[in-house]
Amino acid sequence: MSFSTLGLSAPLLKAVKEQGYSEPTPIQKQAIPVILSRKDILAGAQTGTGKTAGFTLPLLELLSSTKPAKSKQSIRALIITPTRELAAQVGESVEVYGKYLPFKSAVIFGGVKINPQLLKLKKGVDIVVATPGRLLDHVSQKSIDLRDVEFLILDEADRMLDMGFINDIKKILAILPKQKQTLLFSATYSDEIKKLSDKLLNSPVLIEVARPNRTSEIVKQIVYPVDKERKRELLTHLINEGKWKQVLVFTRTKHGANRLTGQLEKDGITAVAIHGNKSQNSRTKALSDFKAGEVRVLVATDIAARGIDIDQLPHVINYELPNVPEDYVHRIGRTGRAGNKGEAISLVCIDEHEYLANIEKLIKTDIPKVWLKDFKPDPSIKAEPINQGGSGRGSNSRGRAQNKPAQKSSKEPSRRKK
Ligand code: AMP
Repeated sequence: MSFSTLGLSAPLLKAVKEQGYSEPTPIQKQAIPVILSRKDILAGAQTGTGKTAGFTLPLLELLSSTKPAKSKQSIRALIITPTRELAAQVGESVEVYGKYLPFKSAVIFGGVKINPQLLKLKKGVDIVVATPGRLLDHVSQKSIDLRDVEFLILDEADRMLDMGFINDIKKILAILPKQKQTLLFSATYSDEIKKLSDKLLNSPVLIEVARPNRTSEIVKQIVYPVDKERKRELLTHLINEGKWKQVLVFTRTKHGANRLTGQLEKDGITAVAIHGNKSQNSRTKALSDFKAGEVRVLVATDIAARGIDIDQLPHVINYELPNVPEDYVHRIGRTGRAGNKGEAISLVCIDEHEYLANIEKLIKTDIPKVWLKDFKPDPSIKAEPINQGGSGRGSNSRGRAQNKPAQKSSKEPSRRKK
């Protein structure tokens, strides 16, 4: 099947061709015709499935085939995302796919100055990609007019709820017109998502392409059991031995991400951390340096990494396993994209055995374990409870709370031997 059979017009097909896409992905095949038929959708699709083009292409098509908005100031399409990185990436996709169309778009998120956003909105834009907090700031300043919104897209809605955005979402929904087409994308279906979709969607068409408990077959997964104190040594060893040039490393806490970055730098490996305590500018710079190959290791927490789109990322390392098993699936979904082979390595210490068991239960797979000769765990070390620190879900993930210092409690507990 080719893109030309999906009902998209020449300017969009040209932009798609320039991206080098030869065939639509499963979510695109399913979602594009349904969206073009003006139906609401509830789509279960993870990052990496091509979902962004799956909603952006038909949205642009509909905008060009329907009558323009009433005034210059009114916004025709609103795309809401949970994180700034995702907003930036969706905004980029809107620009890329809409290259041959006359629409103007703006990306609106917190952590950066509001003035350039005000100026842009004042000039008039058709499409706004926004995170909830800053969008509401604009609403209260009356710098954005959402009364004529024709299309609403909630991207990664499950993550929005996890991050505590439900009240913000409700406030935004309350000011949007009743008559509009709504597209809701979520990697998981919880009762919460069901409630939201019941309220928001009008006889939606259900689309599902990849369950969150399904890991890609082209991602090779492996666990290296190792003592907690030796993880950093093992990571340095793996990076040096494998001559890896681009590695995404996950930690559970912001504090852990900072500390590991410093340690890798001491080992002579260029590394940069990306997490919620960093300013938006430094997050953007970290990501672009990593993409450009100027730093070898990007150390990230789950929320900061959500939605990061890096093509052909060959290695993802779980320096610490996530306490939420679904996050494992999201993390390793960063590799093995678009048919490329990837490797997801987890460094697992005795404290994390329960996390590992929960992950294996979710993905219904026993991840192969390899005991490396020089890094075998010391059998005398006993498991200790894991301190979550302050960077898990919810607590520090909102824009306004992000400038708090990392909590003291994320300190490593001292090790005890028998
Ligand atoms: P997404 O799930 O929207 O984050 O997209 C994941 C990646 O797939 C992005 O790098 C897109 O550029 C890429 N992509 C989207 N659609 C296609 C396609 N039809 N063929 C190949 N790659 C695609």
